[in-house]
Amino acid sequence: MSRAYRKIPIVDTARRCGLVLDPKTLGRREVEASCPFCHDHGPGKHHLYLNTDKDQYRCVLCGASGNSVTLYARTHNLSNKEAFLELVKEGKVYHFPKQPDSPKTEKQPRPLAERHEVYTDMLGLLSLSDEHRANLRQRGLSDERIERNLYRTMPKTKEARRLLATLLRRSDHDLEGIPGFRTYYGDWTIVGPDGFFIPARDKNGLIQGLKIRKNDEDDGKYRWLSSRDMPHGTRSYSWIHVTGNIHSKRAFLTEGPLKGDVASYLSDDSLFVCLGGVSAIGNLEEVLTDLGVTEVIEAMDMDMMVNPQVRTAVLKARAVVQGIPGIKYRKYTWNPAYNGIDDYYKSLAATM
Ligand SMILES: [Zn+2]
Repeated sequence: MSRAYRKIPIVDTARRCGLVLDPKTLGRREVEASCPFCHDHGPGKHHLYLNTDKDQYRCVLCGASGNSVTLYARTHNLSNKEAFLELVKEGKVYHFPKQPDSPKTEKQPRPLAERHEVYTDMLGLLSLSDEHRANLRQRGLSDERIERNLYRTMPKTKEARRLLATLLRRSDHDLEGIPGFRTYYGDWTIVGPDGFFIPARDKNGLIQGLKIRKNDEDDGKYRWLSSRDMPHGTRSYSWIHVTGNIHSKRAFLTEGPLKGDVASYLSDDSLFVCLGGVSAIGNLEEVLTDLGVTEVIEAMDMDMMVNPQVRTAVLKARAVVQGIPGIKYRKYTWNPAYNGIDDYYKSLAATM
């Protein structure tokens, strides 16, 4: 009997138990209810959180917790087995997990200036591990530049992640609408793989979002910090990162914010426009036009032209640039022994 085939929805169960639900929270991933065990130390409050992903409940006041079966058993004075049999006999038991929210109703990230403030304060509370510093130095970055770019290590433990959210909330930051933050049974926390943060900035230096360089590279090295489809969570976008001298009339186009940071540093702060993903070209034209550049030099990784899907994406990005009036386009070629422009510049720096 697999879990997915015996999903007993916690909200339906709570209704059958006669719990009072907070109507404002219905339809959310975390529905709030009055606690039948401690009665919230007073009427009209909702301290019991119903997690609809896991079909579990927890009262943040008295600590009562469990799943649909134990909730039903406790409120009806039944054994867990009796409760289970009654719930599956009469109750609505889904045969498949619920689908994620449709994009139309999906909550959008808060405006850029507000994300920038929260992320800047957040990075200020974090440090960079020795291991991550070594990784960044090895790419060719100086300590001064590593510090200036605000790379930081993602807190590892659950407690440290929750503490980070708590400290931000204490400094009056609202975490609702900030990609990466979510609630877990009512407590705010940050979610994502272990690794280090790479800020993705716009041309004015405002942090649009954070990319994570993962420690564990099993399914890709990089991931956007996002809490999509989680309680009080928010999706991220593939923001275009701008780094280097923004007054330059010539921009290099590459993929990946860290690659751009490194290549820019190693080429005397050349202007780099870095896609968040090779097919993430949504506002590429706007970014380039806004910078006022007259020349764009494509500097994608050499191996990108080998994979047909990636190649198609690169060609699409190229077509966008070539379609902008007043911008000259050319493809940068370097010694093919080096895959990325950052690797190539690093090799040049090493021979000087
Ligand atoms: Zn309670």
